[in-house]
Amino acid sequence: MLQPNLLLVDGHLDLAMNALVSRRDLELPLATLRARERRTSETAMVTFPELGRGGIALVFATLCVDKEEDATPDMRSRNLCYKTQEEAQSLALAQLELYEAWEARGLLRIVKSVNDLEHHLEVWPIDRVVGAVLLLEGADPIVNPRDLGAWWRRGLRLIGLTWSDSHYAAGVGVGSKEFRRGSLTAQGQELLERMAELGFIWDVSHLAEEALWQGFELSALKVCATHGNPRSLLPTDRHFSDETMRELAKRQGVIGLTLYNGFLEPAWTNHSQEPVTLACQFRRHAAYVADLVGWQHVAIGSDLDGGVGLEESPLELRSVADLCKVGDVLPETARAAVLGGNWLEFLWRSLPKHS
Ligand SMILES: [Zn+2]
Repeated sequence: MLQPNLLLVDGHLDLAMNALVSRRDLELPLATLRARERRTSETAMVTFPELGRGGIALVFATLCVDKEEDATPDMRSRNLCYKTQEEAQSLALAQLELYEAWEARGLLRIVKSVNDLEHHLEVWPIDRVVGAVLLLEGADPIVNPRDLGAWWRRGLRLIGLTWSDSHYAAGVGVGSKEFRRGSLTAQGQELLERMAELGFIWDVSHLAEEALWQGFELSALKVCATHGNPRSLLPTDRHFSDETMRELAKRQGVIGLTLYNGFLEPAWTNHSQEPVTLACQFRRHAAYVADLVGWQHVAIGSDLDGGVGLEESPLELRSVADLCKVGDVLPETARAAVLGGNWLEFLWRSLPKHS
């Protein structure tokens, strides 16, 4: 049962991508959207009404565009993937413009600073308009590191260098047991330096381990992992090693645990008889990270509808409005922090005071 004073924060949702690439109308009631799509896998979980119903006050909302070789045939036929960085830029700007249009229509509120955050938290209990901190997942849309100032002024606050390989670094995509090697490029190093100058937050999700440690050595950037799980429980390079999580914690970072079944249970497939649950697998992941670095570094980066949906999510979650059920499997003393408090504290420390 949702407590009235509990603020939820989700560290990773692909809202614009779902609207533009999957052609989902996120203003619809979820039942209507589902009835239109009639899916038997990847059934939608996230709409604006569901975010409001679930008490989700803030999300890290992505700009997320795919390279041609990572895209589906449908995306290729509709020119929704990129070959050049200029194409990546225009696709990402279309997502940014959509967030701005949603804001203009009162569907969300873009949060760019601590001031914005304080204002948002004051009015959210009254209007229930979700806040959004903008996150670029894969940095190819930044054609030149010198463009960063323009992205900053448009409200972008977090950047992950890669999904798969980008011009900036080696990326791991959905992950593999091969433990892909690869480093930062010269442009990647320059990008991290300029990000630090401007005050961007670095999201290390999807980055190859070698590149990640190069970045740690190079820079004192504010850093987090918006979505991923402990590698010790899920042995692929998509997830975070104990050393990485310790370093994130040392830098006051936060780790958003992902709620995709395949990232909670290595044996899971769409045909599994045994359900994945918050009570079993998610609890184990959360406890593992907390034992390693403390509950103050554990949060949620659900990635619901990030290429997955109802059928690929833990049994207890019927929509994003059930996110509060994550709290049911946590120690009571850690509940409010993991559900939202840790991300809020992190943003208080990491966003600029004024935009
Ligand atoms: Zn991702």
